[in-house]
Amino acid sequence: MRGTVSIEYRDATTDGLDGGRSAVADDAVGLVSKADSTSDPTRRSPNVTVLGRAVVVRRERQTRTADGNGDMDTEETDEERAGFTRRQLLAGLAGSTASVATVGTLGYARLDPVDRLEVRVWVSERAAAYDGVAERVREYLEALLSYDYWELDLSVGGTVAVSREDGASVTSDGEWPATLASGAVGLGGVDPVADANLLVTDGQMTTAPTGFALPHVASVGGARHLAALPPFDELEGVRDGGAVHRIVPDERPVRTIQILLHEVGHALGLDHDHGVVFRDGERVVATPMLSSYAWDPDYEGDRSRCGREYPPADGRERALSLAFSTCARRGLESYDGTGL
Ligand SMILES: [Zn+2]
Repeated sequence: MRGTVSIEYRDATTDGLDGGRSAVADDAVGLVSKADSTSDPTRRSPNVTVLGRAVVVRRERQTRTADGNGDMDTEETDEERAGFTRRQLLAGLAGSTASVATVGTLGYARLDPVDRLEVRVWVSERAAAYDGVAERVREYLEALLSYDYWELDLSVGGTVAVSREDGASVTSDGEWPATLASGAVGLGGVDPVADANLLVTDGQMTTAPTGFALPHVASVGGARHLAALPPFDELEGVRDGGAVHRIVPDERPVRTIQILLHEVGHALGLDHDHGVVFRDGERVVATPMLSSYAWDPDYEGDRSRCGREYPPADGRERALSLAFSTCARRGLESYDGTGL
C-alpha cells in the first residue's frame, strides 16, 4: 500500500473558537466540508470526521508491580517499550506507506488511568521571535495541568520550522502530525511524547478556527498574545463553591491561553461539554473546554455532560476561567493514555 496515506481523524476536533468576543462557526463547518469533500463525503457524523494524514501517539502502559519487592521493570525497559510503541505506530506514516489496520489495531485495550502525563510544547520559528513565549506557556501549563492524580512531565521541545503559521490548518492539513510522525522515527529532530504534543504558532486569533486538535496532537496560534501574558501568579484568584477558580478578564492574551488549554484538553480526549459556564456575581464565566462557545448562539448544548446546566449569559459581563471544570477534571482523571 504505497502512495497516499489516508487515515481517519476519528476524534479530530474542528474548532469554531476565534479568540474574539464570539465564536464563528461557519469557518469551522467550511473546514470540515472541505476535508470531507476531498475524501469521502458520506463520512459525516455528529462527531466530526476528517480524513487526511494523521498521527496517533499512544501510550503503552508499563506494568508496574507494587509487590513490596520494588519495581520489577527497569528504567531501560520502560524507555525501550515506549520507543518501540512510537516507532510501531508512526513509522508507516513518516514513509507514506502506513497501513491503517496496523495503526488501528493497537491501543484498544481497556487501560488504567495514567499516573504520569507527558506534555511537550514546541514553537514555530516565527512564534519563537516573541521573547519567552515557550517558557510562559510552560509556566501556565505547569500551574493548570498539575493534579493529584498524575505526575506532570512537561517540557519544551524547541523551535520547529513549519510552512504556515495558521494555528488550525498546520494540524488539520497534516503538517504538524507528519512532523511528529517523522520525529518519532528519528527524522527531523522533533521527539514526540505520549500524551500531548502542542505546537504554538504566530497564527491569527481573530477568525475561527484558530486551533485544532487530534488525539495527542494540538496546535494553536497567538504567540504574540501568549508572550504578553503576565506571570501566572499575578492572576486574580477567586473561590467558587469550594473549588478555586481562577477568573480572569476576557482579554486577548487570556483568551489565547484559554484556547491553548482548550486544544490541549481535546488532545487528551476532552470535548466541549466537559466545560461549563457559571455565574460569579454579575459576570458569567466560561471554563476552557466550553470557552467562547458559551456565548455562541449556535452552540446547542445547555449543560455539561456531567449535568450542570448553563445559566443564560445574555447581557452579562464575560469572564474566563483558566481552570478546567470539575466535569473536565473528572474526565482527565480517567484519561488512560488513549482518550476518554
Ligand atoms: Zn474545541
